[in-house]
Amino acid sequence: MSKMLLSLSLLALLLPPLSAAGGGDAYLLTERDPFFLARNGIYLSVAYDKGRTRLVRPLLPYDSLPAELRAALRPVAPGEVRNEPAGSFAKVEADPAVRDLLSRVDPRNISAWAERLTMTGKRSAGALDLSPASGNRLAADMIADELGRLGYAVERHCYRTRKKDDECNVAGRREGERYVLVAAHFDTVGHENAGADDNASGAAALLEMARVLAAYRSDLGLIFLAANGEETGIAGSYAYAKKLRASGELSKVAWAINMDMVAYNKDGVIELETNGEFAAHAEWVAALARVYTGMTPHIAMPAWGSDHVPFLEAGIPTYLSIEHWDDHNPCYHRPCDTMQGLDWDFAADIARLNLAVIAGKARLTPN
Ligand SMILES: [Zn+2]
Repeated sequence: MSKMLLSLSLLALLLPPLSAAGGGDAYLLTERDPFFLARNGIYLSVAYDKGRTRLVRPLLPYDSLPAELRAALRPVAPGEVRNEPAGSFAKVEADPAVRDLLSRVDPRNISAWAERLTMTGKRSAGALDLSPASGNRLAADMIADELGRLGYAVERHCYRTRKKDDECNVAGRREGERYVLVAAHFDTVGHENAGADDNASGAAALLEMARVLAAYRSDLGLIFLAANGEETGIAGSYAYAKKLRASGELSKVAWAINMDMVAYNKDGVIELETNGEFAAHAEWVAALARVYTGMTPHIAMPAWGSDHVPFLEAGIPTYLSIEHWDDHNPCYHRPCDTMQGLDWDFAADIARLNLAVIAGKARLTPN
């Protein structure tokens, strides 16, 4: 943890809670990259800091802040901000058929896929131009091969964001009248053989969910979106949502689920992040977490900074499933985000929860 992060954490302890912090110019901080915070933390005081949700007050007039900091500050409305243990009013009965589905998740598969992704090199979408065999492309190829091997129709969806190179998402699809979409990004901020937790873990959990569901028929179609360009402005998911809109399919996506950082187990807490309009949906997911996993669900809102955002903006009930972000993984966006110290049983529990959600939405029948 950097000194700056530490001081932000200490500051949070000294400051009053949100309710006492008053209205006015508190902003949701939508960037937590440690290098970004090292540059910009000096301009901020922390008004609220729980898990993913951090409200800050600028120490200078807004207009004199650095442009990159202004871009990361979002005004929030009173009542829009929440980060706390889920309520217990949503009740779910355990279903033996769902338990059987979840018992098929194997943490060893998730760990093995995550390790292969991590060892592809630098998976930065922004470095595509720089290397003829970039880790980003190797990772995309690996995911495409695995989804194809599992029997899904593989789609390479390329979108133009830079002069020389297209970036490409990889999607594995099973067609249907309506869809559940599962997203996880496979790009990183670009450290060599890093990005194990962020987000080889989520991409690997996506592959494990695809593997388990390959053995089931379903009345809903499935889209497994391995997204590129998340670390450079959620580019891949925005492009994919735009493409679905153009083809008339976006309105057929009934639910979406995002996994981003699922293998650093701080204290057994999973954060379920969404926007206020889908709070009841998140509480239902939390009830499933209590029934089918050992995790403690927290609800976080509003949503920011990952692949759930484009689908929420399209009005689709979507949540992010993510490890507890109180002080988050100390190796977040650093070269030390390697396989070491990660908890694959925890990642498996997050995959199980998201499968339980799909089982609650779709009629699944074993082949
Ligand atoms: Zn990420």
